[in-house]
Amino acid sequence: MNIKGSTNIVGLIGHPVEHSFSPPMHNAAFKALDMDYAYVAFDVDPSNLKSAIEGAKSLNIKGFNVTIPHKIGVMDFLDGIDEVAELIGAVNTIDFKDMKGYNTDGIGAVKAIEEVTSIKGKNIVIAGAGGASRAISFYIAKYGADSLTILNRNIDKAQKLARDVSESGLIGNVKSDSINDINSYLDDADILINTTPIGMHPNVDVEPIATADHLHEDMAVFDAVYNPNETVLLKEAIKAGAKPVYGIKMLLYQGAESFRIWTGENPPVDVMENALRDTLNL
Ligand code: NAP
Repeated sequence: MNIKGSTNIVGLIGHPVEHSFSPPMHNAAFKALDMDYAYVAFDVDPSNLKSAIEGAKSLNIKGFNVTIPHKIGVMDFLDGIDEVAELIGAVNTIDFKDMKGYNTDGIGAVKAIEEVTSIKGKNIVIAGAGGASRAISFYIAKYGADSLTILNRNIDKAQKLARDVSESGLIGNVKSDSINDINSYLDDADILINTTPIGMHPNVDVEPIATADHLHEDMAVFDAVYNPNETVLLKEAIKAGAKPVYGIKMLLYQGAESFRIWTGENPPVDVMENALRDTLNL
């Protein structure tokens, strides 16, 4: 990387940030397109969030990704928030041109799924009702799914998310239930999404949220877990003849969308994916 007096800085704020895969992914993209940009990770203590944003503005930083624990708190320091990010209630990308916040996590998942099937008109079942599920659920609604069923261990959380998505007016048919009843929803599902950490390293050999006998070949199965690459759920999906969608693709496309927002350029997705795979040893 050739950092010069003219180099544009973008980066990540979070706490901690040292294991982030975003710097190699974005820097590989800038290098491939010969763009005068560099991506840096900044560890920002929550007590310093406001001064970090103000300082970044003063330093003419062009864009930030935002990760845990700042995705909600940072919204207080922005001038505008994208419509869907506002509904989600969390921001993972800031464009300093207009101090506007976006949430590209949900877009990332939608783009990952749309590599194998379209969202429009589909019956979608999502397991989990935490941050990832919230981001994905609103984008699924925006992209024209026919129905969304949110299943969670804590049913109150599933109900609240279902109510919020329904009140957005983006989708007519939203249900919620216990994750224990997942099998009764799978026959009619076109797309199953896992946003629970079940199957994540090091607990890779656990009981998946669904087994092959309840999945079918006309469905796509997306697992937000990206370590391991092929989770126990995706193994079951493949066994059933369903189309697997890997968690790494959500990481890739959330980064690609942030890149597009900051630079206005088309992201070199293949280059970014290779850098991501190298970093994650996949
Ligand atoms: P979160 O906010 O903590 O939510 C976790 C969700 O999983 C909750 O709904 C929780 O249910 C459920 N859950 C946790 N352990 C469970 C268990 N043993 N059995 C059943 N349900 C369980 O976390 P998050 O930020 O949404 O992240 C969730 C997963 O998505 C993580 O594995 C993360 O690595 C992955 N992720 C991937 C990407 C990507 O780009 N690929 C991006 C973001 C997140 P309760 O409400 O009942 O506790």
